[in-house]
Amino acid sequence: MKLLRVCVIGAGGAGLAIARHLTSQVDIFNVSVFEQASSLGGTWVFNEDTGTDERGLPIYSSMYRNLRTNLPKEVMAFPDFPFPSEWRSFISHQQVLKYLEDYASHFNLYKYISFDSTITSVHPITNEDSHNPQWEVVITNANTKESKSCIFEAVVVCSGHFFDPLIPSIPGLEYFGGLVMHSHDYRDPHPFQGKHVVVLGASSSGQDISLEIAKMAERVYLSHKGHLSCKLPDNVEECRPMSCVSSDGVVHFDDGEQKEVDVILFCTGYNFSFPFLQSDCGVEVSDNRVTPLYKHVFSTKYRTLSFVGLCLRICPFPVFSFQAQFIAAVLSGKAKLPSEEEMNAEEEQEFKEKLASGLRKKYAHFLGEKQWDYMRCLAQLAGVQPPSEACENLYKFISKRRKEFLMDYKMMNMSSLLMENGKRK
Ligand SMILES: Cc1cc2nc3c(=O)[nH]c(=O)nc-3n(C[C@H](O)[C@H](O)[C@H](O)COP(=O)(O)OP(=O)(O)OC[C@H]3O[C@@H](n4cnc5c(N)ncnc54)[C@H](O)[C@@H]3O)c2cc1C
Repeated sequence: MKLLRVCVIGAGGAGLAIARHLTSQVDIFNVSVFEQASSLGGTWVFNEDTGTDERGLPIYSSMYRNLRTNLPKEVMAFPDFPFPSEWRSFISHQQVLKYLEDYASHFNLYKYISFDSTITSVHPITNEDSHNPQWEVVITNANTKESKSCIFEAVVVCSGHFFDPLIPSIPGLEYFGGLVMHSHDYRDPHPFQGKHVVVLGASSSGQDISLEIAKMAERVYLSHKGHLSCKLPDNVEECRPMSCVSSDGVVHFDDGEQKEVDVILFCTGYNFSFPFLQSDCGVEVSDNRVTPLYKHVFSTKYRTLSFVGLCLRICPFPVFSFQAQFIAAVLSGKAKLPSEEEMNAEEEQEFKEKLASGLRKKYAHFLGEKQWDYMRCLAQLAGVQPPSEACENLYKFISKRRKEFLMDYKMMNMSSLLMENGKRK
């Protein structure tokens, strides 16, 4: 039988997950993973520098020096590859990178990865089977800049979405005389010694970085819509969203409060960006909603184009694993996709429900608590084991604990809890 040539774009956690599940079926798939960096790991490859690298390429990773994971390793792991048992629950970024390298070694993935290889163009070659085109992919050597084009039967996009900073437009920002930074460029708290800092956004990064810089800064104003119901360091004060900067450089909040600060730090997330997808790929990105996609994975127009890793507020590696197994099942013919119309209707329905629940368009790929039903659904479609209930319970437990004890939830060790939980199931 002719092997199905599959192009995987990126060798972060998502690219490794799909590589692992496709290369376990060498009688069906011929897998090529292309990674623009010289090593695997994506986000988890810490880089001291910001801006551009020695090759003139933008620094990709948003990792900071002291980051400890905000999920315990017990729920973070790929379901078929646990973290080392001797590691504590909340681990460093170096340990996550080591884990991904070990995963790649364990499943023999290195031989499928071409490093220093940037995908610069992807476009469909339409044929008589209009839903299942082949793909012309242009690969550019990141060092020599030489390009070559190759044909594949399927493309899986795993290029990540934490590298293109989203900075909301703030009227008068040009009057601000201090330092303006995005969390993408945050590395450590030392530049904030003795400073007054406004942190915009209180999602994972905003919370984590605020606590970290509070150890050095004189005062941190955490500016966001909601209210955190936990104890914060004495020098961290919650503020309403920032509304503007006046011509004297003073920062204003939407309740009329104002502060004189030295730094504005945007922890406002990232844009989804797929610069290599040509317009005829039929994928649109608007306000961080990627459409038209079935289950946040398959292009409904072209079933040979899929994505791993778009979903937000999830346990990334477990979700990647189920998305990858779903893709492998569909591409191998083991699972069938509904008609284009049915897939579009389901996507639209889910999106409408999200809007009705109060989420904005940019959270179209937000899953949160729904991720467990989502993983169970993908597992069923792929015909594989669903996620463990013990993990689900532990995730819910830690999410609650983070809300109540933001300052010290990472001190806990979860392994005994997981074992007890597992016994009860
Ligand atoms: C600051 C921060 C903290 C986080 N903390 C946690 C945590 O505690 N726990 C957790 O589970 N998750 C955490 N995450 C989420 C993390 O992003 C995921 O765990 C996961 O690593 C994402 O993997 P990915 O493969 O989707 O993307 P990435 O890791 O971003 O990998 C994408 C890869 O694609 C490559 N690539 C991109 N474009 C191209 C191209 N055109 N051609 C070739 N290669 C390309 C990139 O170089 C990169 O290697 C955190 C993320 C950030 C930013």
